Amino acid sequence: MNENCLFCKIITGEVPSTPVYTDEYVIVFWDINPQAPVHLLIVPREHIISLNEVEEKHDKLMAHIMRLLPKLAHEQGLDKGFRTVINTGSGGGQEVFHLHVHLLGGF
Ligand code: AMP
Ligand code: ZN
Repeated sequence: MNENCLFCKIITGEVPSTPVYTDEYVIVFWDINPQAPVHLLIVPREHIISLNEVEEKHDKLMAHIMRLLPKLAHEQGLDKGFRTVINTGSGGGQEVFHLHVHLLGGF
């Protein structure tokens, strides 16, 4: 938990979101500025700044996210396929410094 982090505030409920899925590892909600008909954000409950800060202790979490992505895509009807994006650092276009995966589809 980082007091200044938007996604930590979404996880605690301090900032509202439109969740579609939660479990012990992640929360999944709709991106507020969607770039596709389906645009979800998969956000670990743990405050990890970016992929640069992922360590061996996060292996289970990261595998969990990878296996969750196709399930979420299927639930959203993205049977033709989907796109996943992880922006890392300001040079990678990251704006919210709490690790997250974009799931996009229905283009
Ligand atoms: P990134 O550039 O990878 O850090 O992506 C941050 C994403 O968070 C952008 O796609 C924003 O539209 C999205 N975003 C920012 N604020 C909110 C919010 N309050 N609820 C949902 N999505 C948000
Ligand atoms: Zn955070």
